[in-house]
Amino acid sequence: MARRKKIYEGKAKTLYEGPEPGTIVQYFKDDATAFNAQKKDVIEGKGVLNNLLSEYFMLGLNNIGVPTHFLRRLNMREQLVRSCEIIPLEVIVRNFAAGSMASRLGIEEGTQLPRPIVEYCYKDDKLGDPLVTEEHIAAFGWASQQDMDDILSLALRVNDFLSGVMYGVGIKLIDFKIEIGRVYEGDYQRLVVADEISPDSCRLWDLETGQKLDKDVFRRDLGSLTDAYTEVARRLGVLPKGTAPAKPTLIN
Ligand code: UDP
Repeated sequence: MARRKKIYEGKAKTLYEGPEPGTIVQYFKDDATAFNAQKKDVIEGKGVLNNLLSEYFMLGLNNIGVPTHFLRRLNMREQLVRSCEIIPLEVIVRNFAAGSMASRLGIEEGTQLPRPIVEYCYKDDKLGDPLVTEEHIAAFGWASQQDMDDILSLALRVNDFLSGVMYGVGIKLIDFKIEIGRVYEGDYQRLVVADEISPDSCRLWDLETGQKLDKDVFRRDLGSLTDAYTEVARRLGVLPKGTAPAKPTLIN
């Protein structure tokens, strides 16, 4: 088989040229990084779990009419997506204070916010993805006013969808990050949810115990990351049949 052309290698995924024009293959690696790649590890099975979970969320979004780049999963590590031009922003939606927002504003982690808060960070690893305002985005031409209106609406729809799906399996969606891509269709451009949606890019807390089921387990050395992601996948029913649960559940 001819070797595929690698387009880009990121921290958690590698992108290859897809089989048809306008498509890309996203390969999910087992590499985990945090704090702008100062902390690194390889966590066996993480890529498979994120591939399955991202497929689940993106398909769900497609099915309710929120456009995403997702086309289909190819195998346990890869999915076919539409090629798009990524807007250089990390779009963060927060329902409860945590992470950088909790420390920046001195709010206790877990405090419910009066309404969902959307933040934008400029995607630049060398600068550590700094928080920016819509003024910066407009002034530097990263996105137009129309794009920003569309991005806000997409972000809030993703938030409602993900919050509801997670609530249904006993998990609280604290916050998440998405990336938005531009797809060209003839003379028109359309914005779609791109990249991935997985526990690498969300904060997920068990509704009852508050147990963290996301990348904070790795960032803060709270135990096994695969156990946490497997638990999310198991609750959502996305594990292939015959996969053992992370830990036996003991019933008292
Ligand atoms: N996030 C992400 N990639 C980044 C930065 C943040 O996926 O490069 C996610 C993170 O997992 C969390 C949300 O965005 O769900 C908000 O992250 P925060 O700004 O609190 O940053 P952190 O505390 O992770 O540095």
